[in-house]
Amino acid sequence: MLKNKTALVTGSTSGIGLGLARAFAQAGASVMLNGLGDPAAIERTRRDLAAETGADVRFHGADLARPGEVATLVAATEAAFGQIDILVNNAGIQFVAPVDEFPPEKWTAIQDIVLNASFHAIRAALPGMKRRNWGRIINLASAHGLVASPFKSAYVAAKHGLVGLTRSVALEVAETGITCNAICPGYVRTPLVEGQIEAQARAHNLPRDRVIREVILAAQPTKRFIEVEEVAALALFLCGDTARSITGAALPIDGGWTAR
Ligand code: NAD
Repeated sequence: MLKNKTALVTGSTSGIGLGLARAFAQAGASVMLNGLGDPAAIERTRRDLAAETGADVRFHGADLARPGEVATLVAATEAAFGQIDILVNNAGIQFVAPVDEFPPEKWTAIQDIVLNASFHAIRAALPGMKRRNWGRIINLASAHGLVASPFKSAYVAAKHGLVGLTRSVALEVAETGITCNAICPGYVRTPLVEGQIEAQARAHNLPRDRVIREVILAAQPTKRFIEVEEVAALALFLCGDTARSITGAALPIDGGWTAR
């Protein structure tokens, strides 16, 4: 389905991003991985993914908190593969605190990595997509791009901003072969959420299973985590030609969370 296509997935050394990269590589795309972490572990991930799928899988370690490095990442991907057909802005971090105690540097880091890096990546990748009149931009927002929760002001603000950016870009390129959509997952079990389970267990002094059901999944009516593969299947669908009329959408995959 994605033979001769190329994909850049930010924050793809773990979790949802790695799941999307795997799905794209399995579908025949060449994939540029990006993210932070132990270089040896990342190289193993890259090698395994390439061996498992037969795809051309590369890695670039740009730190998305630095705008200049986002542009470098896009340029390096274009240099490696000739073009970027699919751009997934997925990298993200979380920090939880009351707004009046929120560390300003954490606020800035979340805006930089979630929202500003997405702008810089789209800005750099869009001209090539326009020239070829084909592109898929997928922004990994969140249910928190559509509704709020307490103590997550920076994340909620950044994800709402990302949904707004998605809509603006979609309108700007509506008459081209480029679509731009946001995927808005509820809780997907990834390292990011594992960290939250541990933090909430300590904060509430509760065992893990109670934290999962009563705290983490309190807002998720299905009471089960979403699997990375479910998010990847939606992203893959959006990359197909039959999804060409889906643009500017903020698509929940949230177990009914935002139906309330
Ligand atoms: P994760 O922690 O498993 O992965 C995050 C990725 O982002 C990693 O590869 C990490 O290296 C990368 N990253 C972080 N800071 C970076 C930086 N400065 N530069 C480059 N890369 C950086 O998280 P995840 O759960 O897979 O989340 C992926 C995306 O999905 C995030 O945007 C997150 O907000 C969103 N999301 C996650 C959930 C969930 O329940 N897991 C729900 C809704 C939305």
